Amino acid sequence: MSVPSIGEAFWVIGIVAWYVVRYPFERRAKRVRVTTSRRSMTDTIGLAAALLGLAILPGFYVATGIPRFADYPAHSWMVVLGALIFGMALWTFRRTHKELGRNWSISLEIREKHQLISKGLYALIRHPMYTSFLLMAIGQLFLLSNWLVGLAGVVGFSVLFFLRVDKEERLMLEFFGAEYRAYMDRTKRIIPYLY
Ligand code: SAH
Repeated sequence: MSVPSIGEAFWVIGIVAWYVVRYPFERRAKRVRVTTSRRSMTDTIGLAAALLGLAILPGFYVATGIPRFADYPAHSWMVVLGALIFGMALWTFRRTHKELGRNWSISLEIREKHQLISKGLYALIRHPMYTSFLLMAIGQLFLLSNWLVGLAGVVGFSVLFFLRVDKEERLMLEFFGAEYRAYMDRTKRIIPYLY
């Protein structure tokens, strides 16, 4: 197997594992009633951008090799680093799902008996699930040796994150008031101690 195809194989395994983690939560979420929804066209655009950049474009590239003009030589250290970062993304993704539990939604929603989670990874940063998406995007950049497809993940993540994060924090403030304000004062958004 060539170095680029090993990188691609890791990406495929990673994306399948990602869905294996997500699927049971998607099913369970259907059973918890939504009491307030802030789903909007903007949020749908963000989700579509993330899906395109982190799954559809790289999936198409792995299947067809298109766009070949943006390929660059792959080095084995890139594949090793990419696999490590993607692995960290999956670990973080799984943990955030366990910690958020029944409070998780794919969009901006408050569920029946919604609780503010501020323990575990949530004690350090307010959006560790988005951190896992960023790690996944960086992993993709190292695993797929194609500038366009590599960067598509970082772009897709950024569109989702920046279209959503202020709205999400406003919704949490509206709902949890002073408790969330205090939580904001002691945590960063996606990078511990930094941002
Ligand atoms: N932004 C978080 C959660 C993503 S899931 C993260 O990146 O880890 C999005 C849903 O989680 C939103 O509908 C919001 O209502 C809910 N949510 C966000 N932060 C939360 C928290 N600290 N406790 C409970 N629910 C939260």
